[in-house]
Amino acid sequence: MKLYEFQGKRIFKENGIPIQKGNLLTSVEQINKIPPPAVLKAQILSGGRGKAGGIRIWDGSLEISELICDMFTKKIKGEAVAAVLVLEKVEIIREIYLSITFECEKATPVLIVSSEGGVEIEEIAKKDPEKILTIPFNPFMGLTEYQIRYVAKAIIYKNFQELKNIIDAVYKIFKNYDATLVEVNPLVVTPKGMIALDSKIDLDEKSYYRHKQLYDSLLKEQRALQGINKDFKKYELDTISYIPLSGTIGLISDGAGTGMLTLDLIKDAGGEAANFCEMGGLTNPEVIYKAMEVVLAKPGIESLLVVLIGGFNRMDEMAVGIIKYRKEHDLKVPIFIRMCGTFEEVGKRMMNEAGIPTYDDLFEAVNEAVAVI
Ligand code: ADP
Ligand code: MG
Repeated sequence: MKLYEFQGKRIFKENGIPIQKGNLLTSVEQINKIPPPAVLKAQILSGGRGKAGGIRIWDGSLEISELICDMFTKKIKGEAVAAVLVLEKVEIIREIYLSITFECEKATPVLIVSSEGGVEIEEIAKKDPEKILTIPFNPFMGLTEYQIRYVAKAIIYKNFQELKNIIDAVYKIFKNYDATLVEVNPLVVTPKGMIALDSKIDLDEKSYYRHKQLYDSLLKEQRALQGINKDFKKYELDTISYIPLSGTIGLISDGAGTGMLTLDLIKDAGGEAANFCEMGGLTNPEVIYKAMEVVLAKPGIESLLVVLIGGFNRMDEMAVGIIKYRKEHDLKVPIFIRMCGTFEEVGKRMMNEAGIPTYDDLFEAVNEAVAVI
């Protein structure tokens, strides 16, 4: 889940990274008296706005409302502008690139730094990769003082403590928010010290269960704006894996292991699965609804077997999705549900009230699903 610059900067500020004061406009009418020169920044989820016309400097020669109106009406990098952030123009001495992300091949977090930050960083990465420093570090220890001294030397920055505070705060955010990327590009050197002029934070949706309230409130804030972030919803449905097979029994499971085992049990019972849909562990009513849609879309399904073992999953939520699907579709195919785990009593009661049998025993559920075909 990507955050807008203004959301990332708020998190920066809360964690002690210096930012500029800004004015977030969600419509043209909200313009206050801002003296020129000011910087207008389109809030979109893509990066590279500077090169795509998403950053404009207002020097006072035009009406500021014209510029802002223009930004709201144009799509930038194919995205509707959700808001415009208005900031003072900063006196920039130089621009540094700084980020923390994961390097998957090395299975470690890395600090990436370059003394030549700014809008050309992608070009530098291609043409002069030696100008970009990548420092793997121990996730339990964070960056050591030695590593930060090495960075300070590489980017030729004398105020070690100031740089250390910023790097420590970037890692704190990366760790505490379960981010996959926290990027400050540019981190600018000004006559008064360093300022994070831009922010890019990607949160790991797989950690949603750990930060439900926080992620929900950030998402709600995004949805309230014009440019709606559909990424998160997409992720929820992307957790589904679908495998077409050649039999007549549709199979849905909440985890891959149970699903594989059930495929064997179906065979042992003399049946053959038509397909197999696995919901990726942690799931919700919308995902099981989608899984039913996907599995039952295949012609020739004679029975549907749903195997749920709730650890993280809540069985009442699974029941909501299944019942909703059945209500909204004239479903003729019989459903057999093995349901156990969190909130199973509530889930089973809901299923039974809807006239759908549930089973505690996996073998029994499989045998019944095979027996009807
Ligand atoms: P993006 O990365 O999406 O292109 P940035 O926020 O990094 O957007 O801005 C691009 C460039 O615009 C920066 O590298 C910087 O040179 C300039 N810039 C951004 N904000 C300001 C500001 N407040 N004052 C002066 N220059 C700015
Ligand atoms: Mg930037």
